[in-house]
Amino acid sequence: MKSTRVSGLNSPKASTHVSVWRHHPKLKALAACCFALGVMTLTTACEKEKVPEPTDVIAEKFTEVTKIQGKTFGTFYYVTVPGGYPGGENTLRSDAEFVFTKVSNAISTFDPNAEIARFNAFKSTKDFVISGYLADILEDMRRQSLRIDQAMDPTVGPLVNLWGFGPEGTIEHSPTQQQIDETLKYVGIDKVELRRAGDSAFLVKKDPRVELDLSTIGEGLAADELAALLDEKGVNNYMIAVAGAIRSKGANPDGKLWRVGIEDPMSQGQKVFTAVCPQGMAISTAGSYRNFFLDSETGHFYSHIIDPKTGYPIDHRTVSVSVIARTALETDALDTGLLVKGAKEAVEWGNKTETPVYAIEIDENGKEVATYSRAFTPYLKCVLNLSISPLPQDQQQ
Ligand code: ADP
Ligand code: MG
Repeated sequence: MKSTRVSGLNSPKASTHVSVWRHHPKLKALAACCFALGVMTLTTACEKEKVPEPTDVIAEKFTEVTKIQGKTFGTFYYVTVPGGYPGGENTLRSDAEFVFTKVSNAISTFDPNAEIARFNAFKSTKDFVISGYLADILEDMRRQSLRIDQAMDPTVGPLVNLWGFGPEGTIEHSPTQQQIDETLKYVGIDKVELRRAGDSAFLVKKDPRVELDLSTIGEGLAADELAALLDEKGVNNYMIAVAGAIRSKGANPDGKLWRVGIEDPMSQGQKVFTAVCPQGMAISTAGSYRNFFLDSETGHFYSHIIDPKTGYPIDHRTVSVSVIARTALETDALDTGLLVKGAKEAVEWGNKTETPVYAIEIDENGKEVATYSRAFTPYLKCVLNLSISPLPQDQQQ
C-alpha cells in the first residue's frame, strides 16, 4: 500500500519506485469504484467480478445511503453510511478530514510540523515532549511489536530512509552492507524510551540518530478514529476504508452483512482473492507487491517492508498477510510484522494466539497459495456455503 505518496503521511515517489496500482490505467478506474489496496470494500454497485454475497439479511434495505470518497495519506479512503449520515455528505467529509488531520499532525514523517517529524529532527538524547495522544499510540504499537518479536518496529525509520522509502527521498542503488550495519545500531524498540509524568509524556532517544516511522499504522489508526467518531454520533451502520484498513459495523446498504475482499496479489488490483465478512471487527492487509524500488544496476526489486533485524527489505514468497482484530491499529501493526515473518510463521502465530491471520504465498510454480489460521475460518463462513468458492487455492492449517 503506501505506494503513492502525495501528502500527509507519505511523500511522492520517484520513478525508480514502481507503484503498480497508481500507474495501471485499468486499476485507476477500479480504484474510483471499489477499493484497490490489499483489502477491498465490495459493494453491489461496483463489483467487477462475481464474489459471493452473504445471505444473512440483518436489516431492511436502506433507502438513504451517504457515501464519500477522497484522498488522504497519499492513498484513497471510502466511507459508506447506510441509513444516511447526520448532516449528510458534507458533514461526513469534514468529519473524516478532521480525523485525518489529527492523525497526520501526530504521526506524519513528511509534514515537518507533525509531532513525529519534529521528534525525528530532534538530534538529541534529551527529553522530547509529546502529546498524550501520541504516547498512547506508541504504547499500543510497542505492545503489538512485542507480541510478534518486534518484526513490526516503529524505530525502523532510519532503515526506511536508507532504502529510499522515507522522507529523505528515493535512491538509485541499494545501500552497502556497511551502511546497513551502521544503521542497525540505532534501530530497535529499546533505542527509545517513553516516559510519563502526570499528564505529560516524553520520548528519549538512546542514540540521537533514532527516528520513528509510524506509517504502517496510519491508515488503521485513521479508520479507528473515524469509527469512534461515527459511534459517538450514534451511527449504527458504516463501512470505513482507509487504503487497506477497514472498519465496519452493522449492515450494508442491502441490509446484509458487510463483506470485504482480500485482493488477489497477482491481479494488480483487478481481482478479489477471497471474500470475508468482518462482522464488526477490523481487517487490514499488508502487501509486499505494491510499493518497491528497482535497483537499476542489479535489476533486483526491493519491497517497502523492511525486516528490522536484518535491515533488508523482505525477500520471500509471502506476498500478503491479512489480520482481523478489534481495532485497525492492531491489525495494521500486526499485518506488517507478520508479513516480515512470512506465511508459515504468521499462520502458526495466528493459531498459537487464536488470532485470525490469512496469508498468500507464491509457490515454486508461480501459483498463489493461501493459508489461514483457525480463528480466520468464521470470517470466511458467511460466504463459504455459497456455490462459488471464494477460496480457489486455500489450504487451511
Ligand atoms: P502495507 O500495508 O503495504 O504493508 P503500510 O503502508 O501499512 O504497508 O506500511 C508500510 C510502511 O511501514 C513502509 O513504507 C515503511 O514506512 C514502514 N515499515 C516498513 N517495514 C516496517 C516494519 N518492519 N515495521 C514497521 N514499519 C515498517
Ligand atoms: Mg500495516
